[in-house]
Amino acid sequence: MTRQFFVGGNFKMNPATLEQKKGLVSLLNEAKLDPSTEVVIAPPFLYLIPLVESIRKDIKVAAQNCYLKNVGAFTGEVSPAMLHDAQVPYVILGHSERRTLFHETSELVALKTQAAIDAGLSVILCVGETLQERESNRTVEVVNEQLDAVIAVLKESDWSKVVIAYEPVWAIGTGKVATSAQAQEIHAEIRKYLTQKVSPTVADGTRIIYGGSVNAGNCKELATQPDIDGFLVGGASLKPEFVDIVNAKA
Ligand code: PEP
Repeated sequence: MTRQFFVGGNFKMNPATLEQKKGLVSLLNEAKLDPSTEVVIAPPFLYLIPLVESIRKDIKVAAQNCYLKNVGAFTGEVSPAMLHDAQVPYVILGHSERRTLFHETSELVALKTQAAIDAGLSVILCVGETLQERESNRTVEVVNEQLDAVIAVLKESDWSKVVIAYEPVWAIGTGKVATSAQAQEIHAEIRKYLTQKVSPTVADGTRIIYGGSVNAGNCKELATQPDIDGFLVGGASLKPEFVDIVNAKA
């Protein structure tokens, strides 16, 4: 199966001002983007609705998180149903910053994934190991454990709504990108795991994207790998070089 190349931009808690956000939108609206790449950008919650209204229609919008209930007394949370209602088609879940700084467990991430899919969203599901886990040769075990929790709750048909982002924690925001061989090795392991635990069809069809210090200089080489189906980009998604990353396969 041919998997459509996917590039996501995770703005995190940036940019600091609405004016800067407008600058990023104009840059993307005017850019020449490879039409065969699916492009999704994830601004902070506050900017989602204006972005849905102002961004060109071939770029989709994602939230960076959501809760697992659709309505109720959950101060400070935003629900999957609200995102769907606001015409936001994607949500990033399980980002390492949420797992580490906000203590989200793999079980919580799995429940949020299920809730998001039930509400009609697609999910960019992040997994990845810390440096310490890599150095103790636990990368595959850790990533598989993170996936186990999700595999336990999803139906086979739900997987068409999931893009897996392999993001080694040691590579996020550090400038230390995984080599294309390191990334390919883990992407192939994830695909093997999906074959065994879900089905060969899901393994073949699910996009597995890489995240961690991707930039205009390293994206083309990473994109040559057979199991790297795109990128989740943090820092570089706030810069003009994001366009080069979207066009990595062109
Ligand atoms: C991310 O936060 O998802 C990410 C990959 O960040 P960066 O590209 O800055 O490493």
